[in-house]
Amino acid sequence: MPGHVTHTLIYPPSARHNEAGHLEIGGCDVVALAAEHGTPLFIYDEAALRSQCRAYLEAFAAHAERFVVVYASKAFACRAMCELVHEEGLSLDVASGGELAAARAAGFPPADIYFHGNNKSVEEIEAAFDYGIGHFVVDSFDEIPRLEAAAAARGRRQPVLLRVTPGVRPTTHSFVQTGQVDSKFGFGLAEGQATEAVRRLQASDRLELVGVHAHIGSQIFELDSYESEIATLFTAVAGWRHTLGFECRLFNIGGGLGIRYTLDDQPSSIAEFAAVAVGAVRSQAERHGLEMPTVLVEPGRSIAGKAAVTAYTVGTVKVIPGVRTYVAVDGGMSDNLRPMLYDSRYEAMLANKAETPATDLVTVAGKHCESGDILVRDVRIAPPQPGDILVTPGTGAYGYVLANNYNGQPRPAVVMAAGGRSRVVIARETWGDVLRLQRSLAD
Ligand code: PLP
Repeated sequence: MPGHVTHTLIYPPSARHNEAGHLEIGGCDVVALAAEHGTPLFIYDEAALRSQCRAYLEAFAAHAERFVVVYASKAFACRAMCELVHEEGLSLDVASGGELAAARAAGFPPADIYFHGNNKSVEEIEAAFDYGIGHFVVDSFDEIPRLEAAAAARGRRQPVLLRVTPGVRPTTHSFVQTGQVDSKFGFGLAEGQATEAVRRLQASDRLELVGVHAHIGSQIFELDSYESEIATLFTAVAGWRHTLGFECRLFNIGGGLGIRYTLDDQPSSIAEFAAVAVGAVRSQAERHGLEMPTVLVEPGRSIAGKAAVTAYTVGTVKVIPGVRTYVAVDGGMSDNLRPMLYDSRYEAMLANKAETPATDLVTVAGKHCESGDILVRDVRIAPPQPGDILVTPGTGAYGYVLANNYNGQPRPAVVMAAGGRSRVVIARETWGDVLRLQRSLAD
């Protein structure tokens, strides 16, 4: 039935079945997009990206007088995405010189950029200073003199936030927990390192400490983890106010809101997240007799994740009678590492058989030389054949940005689809691109 899509909760909002019985996204037939741009192909629903940005702005505006939504570009960083989030009125978090370069190429206003990272190189710090970015998020003692030197060389006083590890452990995969005491990120509260860092920054004539930041992890469903984070941070901030005279103007709660990859996932909504987070900041500020700070939030996955699907071409179908059917596609761990890194679960469907009942239990395998190169285990799809276009939804965050050239595989193209039109925002690599930086022993 045209217009109907099996999993509306998982596919981008514009996903529908068209008259040809194909999956359509952003008004574009996915089978036609695969033919035009080749596969694997990341297809973003541009309107979905924009509506997630707006949902964040509306949700935080409903609860906070002063707030900033900072898109965490690590989730999906490229020039077009930086342009899009700026058009939608968001600020930007970059965590490397490469992400900064994309922001620069997009003409992103430097004042709205926050620079993260537990090991920012001097080169990256210099590049960020030269672009005039608004804030650094200080992550280590070793970083402080590097920032001071760059600020002094330019006769500048640079606003910074302090990244604190609050000792909160949300329920999510341990590889994406970041706020616990034993973490490579930030300054611990329990051991007094954060207090020492505040003292050090307060004494700096080149750096101006204007706020705190914490990020407790990613793909978080339970909002009470944020309440614990905010309460812990506020106790620290109140202590620093009394003992060191520190005024916390910017209070950055980090990102981490989870999304639905499968029908079993039950994430909280952006509206619920904003209500809980801002409510916790307000009640903690009142409890400690502090002024309400500007609330900053740093979403990545919940903006980009659900907006994209990856389209692959099925190459082989291997039936092992009584055991399993492997459907091998023309990508795999080179374009989606999450199943291998985090045991992440995805759904799948055949875009060219959108109307055919999903009767066959299969395992979707990549083309790489690893048995662990499995994209989706045990999923029901329409009867598969070589040449079918298989789609995995929910690949918009931490998908393309983790893509790699394993087995010499060129990285896929990325298109944004809207109103029946698709635009290439990252071109497909060729074998020539993969070879471009290689040199012969004879050179
Ligand atoms: N902020 C920081 C400092 C992060 O490290 C991350 C992700 O790792 C994010 C924000 C974005 O998290 P998410 O994509 O889960 O919203």
